[in-house]
Amino acid sequence: RDELTGLINRRHMLELLEQERQRCVRSGHSFCVALIDIDHFKRINDTYGHPVGDVVLRGLAQLIVNTVRTTDIVARYGGEEIMVITPSTPVKTAAQLAERLRKAVEEAPLAIPADLHRELDKMRITVSIGVACFGRQAVDMKELIQNADKAMYQAKREGRNRVIVGCAPDG
Ligand code: GH3
Ligand code: MG
Ligand code: MG
Repeated sequence: RDELTGLINRRHMLELLEQERQRCVRSGHSFCVALIDIDHFKRINDTYGHPVGDVVLRGLAQLIVNTVRTTDIVARYGGEEIMVITPSTPVKTAAQLAERLRKAVEEAPLAIPADLHRELDKMRITVSIGVACFGRQAVDMKELIQNADKAMYQAKREGRNRVIVGCAPDG
């Protein structure tokens, strides 16, 4: 587990992705990943300090866990990046989930404890999300993660606080 957020860590996430890949190859189902990156997170650290950034990251992790289904896997992919794995899920459903997550983050300011910052009570953040699917368009894990990453960076380029789906509707 990741110490800060309590989420599955990157190493365990890669193991679970591999399991999911094998299951999909056997069953013919597809599965998707959503890569979630906080918008302008550096600004939060620079303005309010790293401990406030940590609390924001923890709050986001909790919000995501509370918003997805229990069968979905939530992992800390990197610094301020969280990955949701949706087993046996078509692209359309994964895209809907990503949009639900984006909206939930936008609408729910995260609580900042008073002992960390005197004036700050709640912090509003937004996230950019890239969705990719395992199947015809990504045939291995590396490609799947690259596709999610590319979609996420496209969301950044197009103005942040949005979801980009990096695979075809039937992929
Ligand atoms: P963008 O909208 O393009 O994603 O901008 P950004 O500022 O979020 O992106 P950038 O990659 O420049 O900065 C990510 C920041 O995340 C930099 C790093 O200090 C911070 N970060 C990564 N891990 C942690 C952590 O565990 N705690 C805190 N407080 N900050 C972290
Ligand atoms: Mg990042
Ligand atoms: Mg960021």
